[in-house]
Amino acid sequence: MGGWLTDWRARVNLALMLIDMHTHTSVHSTDSNLLPLDSLARAISRGLDGVVLTEHDVVWPRHLAEQLSEEAGIVVIPGVEVTTELGHVLVYGIQSLVPRITDAKRLRTFCDDQEALMFLAHPARDPGLRVPKESMQLFDGVEGLNGCDGPLQNMSARSRGRTRPLPPIGGSDSHALHEVGTAATEFDADIRNLADLMAALRSGDYRLMEIDP
Ligand SMILES: [Zn+2]
Ligand SMILES: [Zn+2]
Repeated sequence: MGGWLTDWRARVNLALMLIDMHTHTSVHSTDSNLLPLDSLARAISRGLDGVVLTEHDVVWPRHLAEQLSEEAGIVVIPGVEVTTELGHVLVYGIQSLVPRITDAKRLRTFCDDQEALMFLAHPARDPGLRVPKESMQLFDGVEGLNGCDGPLQNMSARSRGRTRPLPPIGGSDSHALHEVGTAATEFDADIRNLADLMAALRSGDYRLMEIDP
């Protein structure tokens, strides 16, 4: 993925930021054994410019994310992966998840109030959990490249996002060190914080990037 457009932009030196939109750590995800600083060091070595922390149903406080960012030397932005009856939903743009929400429609209302964005995560991973067409309206976009899913699942995920307003995003879904930085999203904008990320997402000027091991 990437292709001539990426190469051309890199050559003329436009700001390009490679951000992993989907990461977990052992701090807030019980299914992860990944220490945050280890994950961030690996992300840097894989050529990433930033990561979004998307723990299961917990949002990292902004000041702790900033502290990590300073210690590690890479952009770190808090997001969240919310568990709903329609599957996992990646949410960007909220400060906390209180009260805890598991109903996708309620999550949409909450996100609208916060001006947050919702992307359906790994929509083709679980064959028993297919989101009905009408419910796809709840999402701004889908995760079209998940580092833990196979090519066919990712292809199917992208096809489900075809009618959504925003292009698909990519992330590693890393829970362990070897999974860090396998997939990401390349943005045209310079992204240093959550506000930058939100503006870049809304612009739609980004694309999926698979990263070679
Ligand atoms: Zn998930
Ligand atoms: Zn995840």
